Amino acid sequence: MSSVKLLLVEDEAQMARLLQRGLTEEGHQVDVCARGEDALRQAADVTYDVILLDWSLPDVDGVSVLRRWRETGLSTPVLMLTARGSTGEKVTGLRAGADDYLVKPFDFEELLARLEALARRGAGAAGAPQVGSVSIDLKRRALVRGDREAELTAREYALATELWTHAGDVLSRSRLLSSVWGSDFDGLPNVVDVYVGYLRAKLTDLGADDVEIAAVRGIGYRLRKVTP
Ligand code: CA
Repeated sequence: MSSVKLLLVEDEAQMARLLQRGLTEEGHQVDVCARGEDALRQAADVTYDVILLDWSLPDVDGVSVLRRWRETGLSTPVLMLTARGSTGEKVTGLRAGADDYLVKPFDFEELLARLEALARRGAGAAGAPQVGSVSIDLKRRALVRGDREAELTAREYALATELWTHAGDVLSRSRLLSSVWGSDFDGLPNVVDVYVGYLRAKLTDLGADDVEIAAVRGIGYRLRKVTP
């Protein structure tokens, strides 16, 4: 496949060197970060096709790095590397927004195949989700209707992405809380209602009369198309 631009986050120098060499020989471009904080900065500055993220890092652990990325709306596919036999890590990693995982030690050919599959999937998913006349601009992090746009904060963006990618489905408050605010959120559940209010106000600002975030009593919300 064509060259993949990837960020490798791995603190073990020998492992990082081997992977960087192997992937470069396959024609891919590889940047390496050894620390979580560096990886957070690097992915904010440079757009990658795929991120390869080790769970165990010296400063911030991989899963916290991943959560921060997803909270801020970074949608780059992430393959997590986990230690052998830690099923808990696998589940936590996938819940935090990992697209795939691989258990160490792994076979290089398998890693390569999975990375390339993720890169292809990422490229195919580049289209902005649209419901009615309103789409989400993933690059500018905004709701767009015709030539007008409403900028979104990181939380609004994460909530809008959940609603738009699952348009028509009823999403419970607890699901929205854990996907947007994280499973360890301990604030008030009505934060969901507050943010739905913000998004509704932005839809009104855009003059969007063909889409609404409908309340489903006792459960949560559903984004749906309506007849103006
Ligand atoms: Ca490590």
